[in-house]
Amino acid sequence: MINMQSINNFLLIGSSMILCAIAVYCLFHRKMPGAFPLLIQMIAATLWVIGSYLEIHTKGLEAKILWRNVQQIGVFIVPISSVLFAVDYSQQTERLKKYVYILAGIPITSLVLILTNRFHNIMRTGFTIKDNSITGQSLEVHSTMIGSILLTINFFIPILAIVILIEYRKRLSKHYKKQILLIILSISLTLFLSWVKSAFIDGSGIYIPVAVLYIPSSIILFYCVFRYNFFRLSPVARDKVFDIISEGILVVNQRGIVVDKNPYAETLIKKYFSVNSEIIGASVFDVFINKLEVQQLLLKKAERTIEVKLNYKENSGYLLCSSHPLSMGDNEVVGTVIVLSDITEKKLYEIDLLVRAERDWLTQLLNRQGFNSASHRVLKKANVENKPVSCLMLDVDYFKKINDTYGHANGDRVLQNLAKILDATLRKEDIIGRIGGEEFAVIMIGIDKKNALIIAEKIRKGVEESSLASIDGDTINYTVSIGIADNSNSDMSQEKLLRMADIALYKAKETLRNTIIIYNE
Ligand code: GH3
Ligand code: MG
Ligand code: MG
Repeated sequence: MINMQSINNFLLIGSSMILCAIAVYCLFHRKMPGAFPLLIQMIAATLWVIGSYLEIHTKGLEAKILWRNVQQIGVFIVPISSVLFAVDYSQQTERLKKYVYILAGIPITSLVLILTNRFHNIMRTGFTIKDNSITGQSLEVHSTMIGSILLTINFFIPILAIVILIEYRKRLSKHYKKQILLIILSISLTLFLSWVKSAFIDGSGIYIPVAVLYIPSSIILFYCVFRYNFFRLSPVARDKVFDIISEGILVVNQRGIVVDKNPYAETLIKKYFSVNSEIIGASVFDVFINKLEVQQLLLKKAERTIEVKLNYKENSGYLLCSSHPLSMGDNEVVGTVIVLSDITEKKLYEIDLLVRAERDWLTQLLNRQGFNSASHRVLKKANVENKPVSCLMLDVDYFKKINDTYGHANGDRVLQNLAKILDATLRKEDIIGRIGGEEFAVIMIGIDKKNALIIAEKIRKGVEESSLASIDGDTINYTVSIGIADNSNSDMSQEKLLRMADIALYKAKETLRNTIIIYNE
């Protein structure tokens, strides 16, 4: 007997402590969605439990009625506050405010009627005290028809909270889905236990205080609130970031199936990859079907970032793809987050800068710096492959005079004209640069000085025969002198090759101009 009573006491004290702990947590986080309604609910539930404890432990009808009435605060406030919690937590206060006010009318009216019952007897017709084997005496309340109806309606109010939370849960990511499921479970469990108690236990003579029914659900809530830092990271904020961030995010499970994506990821994938079907549920190997590098990002199971160039239909661009493995517990990788950033604009700007830095604005040929780096590169390769390389050095004859006669602008035209002739005469793989005011240089791989002479002659003749129209409609005739050198099949530095060609050019200038000289030791 005493044992049963101590168990009862233990349950009542234990559950009120859990409820108080959650209430305190909610109090400190009361600005967060859901915290304030949960605080009200916890206070109401605590009153219910304490009322129930004191009802058992006090003697006399009046005292027992008083504590029964205190319990009624919990009975009517707990269900409606679970709806308030669902509305507030899912951030739908503005939309559903009106309906919540109407709904709140039911418990508030019921509560007022109960507390003022002695004046009108609308809710109760009377009370009796019965002997109870466990608690000694127990209070029996005789409800009116209206009282029973209002109590029943009130009992079903939490179903609305469950509906709201189920709807909200659909929009959340996996992590938060679990939390919401537990909260739904905690509300449903109390409903279920209350039904079991009234349907099966109450009639059988066994006494269970209603507050005890709150213990399982408050333990679940307690777990949710503290285990998940419930109010610290708002799922709404997370979802918002996921939705608005201008980076594509894909969540991929360990089998390579896409399980979540944000809208921007979809935009990028539809733009650069040939995916028309639903992305969620698809394998990443199908999503990135034309990009092996991206597929391999996943296989490595390590933090990695790669840059990929993409060409799909009329869309070409650059994507920065980074993979972030998701591990649980003992470093077991359970999936990967892939972040996709469209860096096309930045990349094109960089390329443009690079081109500008190495190009001559007037002739669009390589400038000295561009010529040097390109010729170094090809010479190295030619030396390794043991290929002949020849170099042409060109200088416009009497260019100063052209400037003096036709003006600087026409001098520029001459330079552009020569660039055009070089471009038309030489191969695509030849390196052509404007390395000084009216000085040009060419590096040709696979061509020795004998063949270079034939090409140089073509250029010299092309220039001589070009009659260039000046801005004023005059005809400008000009010539070039050319020096040639080659590597004669031995390794040779770019500097040395250019110096030799320059010496040959100098010789051509010394003699006749409009001439080609091959360097000769
Ligand atoms: P030579 O036959 O011995 O080469 O005589 P030259 O007059 O061509 O040679 P010089 O080196 O004396 O003169 C080069 C001139 O080129 C001097 C400079 O004013 C002119 N020049 C350099 N850069 C440019 C340019 O970008 N545009 C124009 N129009 N003239 C330039
Ligand atoms: Mg010169
Ligand atoms: Mg000159």
